[in-house]
Amino acid sequence: MECPFCDNTNLSLRKFYENDLFIGIYNLRPFVEGHVLFMPKRHVDSILKLSDAEKKGLMSFANRCIFIALKYANAYQFDLILQEGEFAGQSIPHAHFHVLPRRFDDEVGISKKEWLADFSHREKSLRGNLTNEETEKIIKRLRFIAKEHAVQLEAL
Ligand SMILES: [Zn+2]
Repeated sequence: MECPFCDNTNLSLRKFYENDLFIGIYNLRPFVEGHVLFMPKRHVDSILKLSDAEKKGLMSFANRCIFIALKYANAYQFDLILQEGEFAGQSIPHAHFHVLPRRFDDEVGISKKEWLADFSHREKSLRGNLTNEETEKIIKRLRFIAKEHAVQLEAL
């Protein structure tokens, strides 16, 4: 199977932020508003296989994606999720993190502790896939936020 996170057509539609090593994209099946993913550009199935440069750059890139996603969703709290391996719920064998902006009135609607158990199932079934038009609209706004806050992002 072709890796969707190595597919340039898919990435160019979904990306809202990137540098040499990492890319941030909007999730195809957003679980909450502002549900973004970020990942190394290089195809690795595990964060344990990151290069030294990737390990060094990871948290700073994470901070920037989180910042943009929170601005987008008008939220101040978030879940940061990494699923590695089949039993952990990893569906695409290219290491990636989920950022889920969380609000008191968000759509998760169940106990904040219990919801993670439901995450994999609900991510697939809660909504249908976004259309390309919906994605384009969202990406436009995310890119605008990234551009507007370029100075703040550089400092993260
Ligand atoms: Zn890949």
